[in-house]
Amino acid sequence: MVQFAVFLLLVFSSPLSHGYHIVIDPGHGGSDRGATNRSTNESELTLKMTHKLVRGLRNKGFKVTLTRKGNQNLSLQARVEIANSVKADLLVSIHANSSVDKRAKGAEFYFQNQLDADEESMFLASRENQNSKPALINSDDKHSSTIDHILGDMKRTYNIYLSSELSKKLALNWKGQKKSKLNLIKQAPFYVIKNSNMPSVLVELGYLSHNFESKKLTQSKYQNIMVSSIIKAIVDYKKQIDNN
Ligand SMILES: [Zn+2]
Repeated sequence: MVQFAVFLLLVFSSPLSHGYHIVIDPGHGGSDRGATNRSTNESELTLKMTHKLVRGLRNKGFKVTLTRKGNQNLSLQARVEIANSVKADLLVSIHANSSVDKRAKGAEFYFQNQLDADEESMFLASRENQNSKPALINSDDKHSSTIDHILGDMKRTYNIYLSSELSKKLALNWKGQKKSKLNLIKQAPFYVIKNSNMPSVLVELGYLSHNFESKKLTQSKYQNIMVSSIIKAIVDYKKQIDNN
């Protein structure tokens, strides 16, 4: 059984080592402006950041697809369909935050949480063991009825593991404003990252509701710092995947 699990791990890993395809999803758009403040709104910021990211990632040799190129409405379902239909290796959704607490500031990185209670407990337990991978083969105990269930379960668990690894790289490489060392990385059931078939992370760049940070977020120089942080994290993550 262990040999079988290792074989499956290799099967799932192999597409990551060549022709790496990243989908960048600028949050909101069109009539959905997202978080706003006096001078800017989230949908414009995420689109500007996405175009910078796409240029940088293509310069590094990645294949990149955008979910939206201009300021149009796009449903969450359509964003997921784009990422799934191009069989992307990675999905990064870009957002900016807002809070009634005007002191809230800094970036946060969310990865998918699509497990039912038992599995979530399993995953949380594996997260506690920071240096070990999730207990992939244990899914077999619960879903021994069909091979499809096992395969689907393992792929899903492995994607969540990869998403958490990318979140760690993002937190490690982030040169912009940080929220705090403790809660930089979070799990949450955002639709786009929850329903995609590949490793996926949602980046909250910072808080538009914070007076000082909202000004920084609109500055080209600060945007470039955030863009290079994200690109460095993706490059580091890709290296880690290749080395596995
Ligand atoms: Zn948003």
